Amino acid sequence: PAVQGLAPGVIADWLRWGTSELDAASDSARADAEILLAALLDSERAALRLRHDEAIEAATVLRYASWIERRKLGEPVAYIVGRQGFWTLDLVVDTAVLIPRPDTETLVEWALSRLPAGSTARVLDLGTGSGAIALAVASERPTVSVLATDLSEAALDVARENARRNGIGHVVFARGAWLAALPAEAAPFDLILSNPPYIADGDAHLAALRYEPRLALTSGIDGLDAIREIVREAPAHLKSGAWLLLEHGHDQGAAVRALLTEAGFENVETRRDFGGNDRVTGGRKP
Ligand code: GLN
Repeated sequence: PAVQGLAPGVIADWLRWGTSELDAASDSARADAEILLAALLDSERAALRLRHDEAIEAATVLRYASWIERRKLGEPVAYIVGRQGFWTLDLVVDTAVLIPRPDTETLVEWALSRLPAGSTARVLDLGTGSGAIALAVASERPTVSVLATDLSEAALDVARENARRNGIGHVVFARGAWLAALPAEAAPFDLILSNPPYIADGDAHLAALRYEPRLALTSGIDGLDAIREIVREAPAHLKSGAWLLLEHGHDQGAAVRALLTEAGFENVETRRDFGGNDRVTGGRKP
């Protein structure tokens, strides 16, 4: 019982095999093999290390080999296993949503610093995708109310599923384009957050992101169309003294600061991600 040409083996053997198969295609071959096999065995990656001597069933080996093949062709591990960790949450993901990135935790941390424990603030997450930002903030602040929007109904299905699985009941979802998604009677917000698409059309990085939805990635010739629209529309929906925080590309800090300043925001500043790159810019409505 093995992939054609392969002797049957225990978990350690299959991890070694998967790693060597992925070596040329992935710079995280060993980790990828561990995550894929752990998911198939319904195990944690760390727990798998204690099971190295166990044999695996033929059917599992066949699925593992097909997953290794998909990974070899460039598909992200998160889409193959259908999950991605973000903040403290385990999120389901499919190709309707961007895979949440650790960089985005910079935005979550800034948002939480604006929301004291017990806050009853109204928070808006525009373009929620998997729900990563809205759900991370909501998970840390049970007393805030969060509205999360997306243009894509398929993305909202994923985000709602993530709210349900993580037991988060105080996030409401609405479909639509940026601020146009808001219900007509929506009261102004204390905090507006977004990780909008910010890559320029035709950017060379898009090839490596080909499995992710284009809608979530690109935004005009300089990548700033969505950010311009949000900056233009947000003030009408912010309370006086409320903050708008926007994630953007590593080279867009100055441009986003200029947009916020021109729109009348104060205390405009940019924060860096864990890699030391400009990543989130925010300002306060006077
Ligand atoms: N808000 C989601 C995230 O941060 C989706 C972002 C996007 O699709 N551009 O992961």
